[in-house]
Amino acid sequence: MPTQPPYAQSARKPAGPNLAQRRYDRRRADTPALAWAAAFRGSFPWKQLRAAFLALHPICGACLNALARQVHHVVPLEKDPSRALDWDNLAPVCTRCHADCNRDERADRETAPRFANFKRRSISGDRLMGSRGPLQRTSRPCHIASAFAAPPA
Ligand SMILES: [Zn+2]
Repeated sequence: MPTQPPYAQSARKPAGPNLAQRRYDRRRADTPALAWAAAFRGSFPWKQLRAAFLALHPICGACLNALARQVHHVVPLEKDPSRALDWDNLAPVCTRCHADCNRDERADRETAPRFANFKRRSISGDRLMGSRGPLQRTSRPCHIASAFAAPPA
């Protein structure tokens, strides 16, 4: 009688997102601020701003020693969504330092001290996206944020 092939066991694992992902999805559905933050991270204005910010700040602002891969909100999105697209609230981070920042936030510690030696480059709206671009932070920085409904308090 033939035995089961070795892959039969793993083939029976349920398909789809793992348990942690399903838990997160459920928590997000119950937490408007989390749902808003997730939608924000996928939004065009954020992707544009993030790319522009990384282009000007290629090195991690925390360790000053690695390529920045991500952009961190110093004041977290969930705490102050009005600063979601605030240039002065952004910091470039490498993957490792971003994990450190997230650990700080879970422990309710501020992440700003990690960026004490980071010099944020300033930029005018015109230089950022061209005069007709969507990101004109000099005149009306909240103009893009208003495209998102503020999360329910
Ligand atoms: Zn770093």
